[in-house]
Amino acid sequence: MREKVALLRSDGYQSPEHMEKMIRQGLDYLGGDSFIRKLIPPGSKVLLKPNLLSAAEPGSIVVTDAVLFEGVVRVLRDYTDRLSFGDSPGFEPEKKAATKTGLMEVASRYGVGFEDFSEGMQVELKEAILCRQWEVARAAYETDVLISLPRIKTHGMMYYTGAIKNQFGCVPGTKKALWHTRMNNTHNFAKMLLDLNTLLQTDFAILDGIVAMEGNGPKSGDAKELNALVMGENLAAVDTVALSLIGYDDATELPQYQVVKESGWGPYALEQIDVLGERVESLQCHDFAKVRKTNEIFGDKQSLRWIKNWIAPYPKLKEEKCIGCKICSEVCPERPQVIEMIEKDGKTIPEFDKNTCIRCFCCQEMCPVGAIEVGEPWLGKLLYR
Ligand code: SF4
Ligand code: SF4
Repeated sequence: MREKVALLRSDGYQSPEHMEKMIRQGLDYLGGDSFIRKLIPPGSKVLLKPNLLSAAEPGSIVVTDAVLFEGVVRVLRDYTDRLSFGDSPGFEPEKKAATKTGLMEVASRYGVGFEDFSEGMQVELKEAILCRQWEVARAAYETDVLISLPRIKTHGMMYYTGAIKNQFGCVPGTKKALWHTRMNNTHNFAKMLLDLNTLLQTDFAILDGIVAMEGNGPKSGDAKELNALVMGENLAAVDTVALSLIGYDDATELPQYQVVKESGWGPYALEQIDVLGERVESLQCHDFAKVRKTNEIFGDKQSLRWIKNWIAPYPKLKEEKCIGCKICSEVCPERPQVIEMIEKDGKTIPEFDKNTCIRCFCCQEMCPVGAIEVGEPWLGKLLYR
C-alpha cells in the first residue's frame, strides 16, 4: 500500500487559528473526519511529542513552534479530552524547556497535561533490526496515540533530523548518551532510531518546514523559510518528502534512509508516496545549506580509524564565542573523557581529543552559544567536494 503524505504551503505561522486551519486542511487531504476518528479512536489518550531540544525562547527555530503547537491542540481537542505533551531535552530539565519555549503556557490554557519523560520503563523489542533492550519514557510507550511534532533541521551527525530522529527524545535524559557510545557509526545509530520508532509505534507526524534550520544544526543553525508543512502516518514517508524539499533527490544518500531501504522499514523514494495537496516541486528549496556527508567511510572497521582525522568531520571550536560553561564536556558520552577544559588566553575553553572522539556531535548540539561547528579537514573537503 502506498503511503499518503499531506503537503501544505503556509507563509509563516501567522496565528494559532491559521495553523489550526492548515492542519485541518492536511487532515482533510488524508481522509478527513473518518481518517482522524480511525487515528484517534474515542476515549484515546493522545501524547504530543514536540522537539524540546533545549530551553529556547518562544519563536526559536531550535524547538517546536508554540503557534504551531497551539494550532495542533485546537484541532485535537475536538477528538480527545485526554491530550498531553512531553519530551526529554538533551541537557536541561524538561519542565524548564517546556516553560521557556512557551509550550507549557499554551498547554495550560487548553488543559493539556504535561508528561514527565524522566520516568523510564524497560521494554524488549523482539523483532529488532539491532537493538532489543530499551529504556523509554513510560508516558510515550503507554499512550494510546503518539504524535510527533518535529521541525526540519540539519544535524551534525545524522545530517538531517525530522520525524524519525525527533522520537529519540522519548529516551529519558542521560540514557540518550549511552546510545551514542553503543552505536559506533551513523548506520548503527540509524538502525537504533528505527528500532526505537518500531517500539513506540508513533501514529502520526506533523513536520514543520515553515521555518526550517539550515547550516550548523540542530541547535545553532540559521533559519530557512520553506513555508511547508508535511503530515502523515508513516514517519519515513514524511521525512522522504521533507528531504526532497531541502535538496536530497535521493533520500538514501543519508544513512538513515539506506537503513530504511535495506530493512524494508518504510518508503524512501517519492515514487512510493502519494503526496496530497501542494506539489513537491512548488516548495522545493534549491539553496538549502545541508551538512556535508563525509564520515560513512569508516563503518565498523577499526583498521580505517587512523585516517579518520584526515578526512572525517570533527567538532571545531570557535574560541571567540565560547563562554566556558563546560556543557560540552558534561554531555560528551565518550569515556575516557574526550574533552578537557583548559585555560587559554585567560579563558576556560574545551580541548578535543580527535583520536578518541566518536563524532556524535552531542557537544555541538548542546553548546548554548553555537561555539562548536562541524569542521572538515582539508582532505575531507577535497574528497567529498
Ligand atoms: S564550547 Fe560551548 S558548551 Fe563548550 S564550554 Fe564553550 S560555550 Fe560551553
Ligand atoms: S567531543 Fe563531541 S563529537 Fe566527540 S565524542 Fe564528545 S560529544 Fe561526541
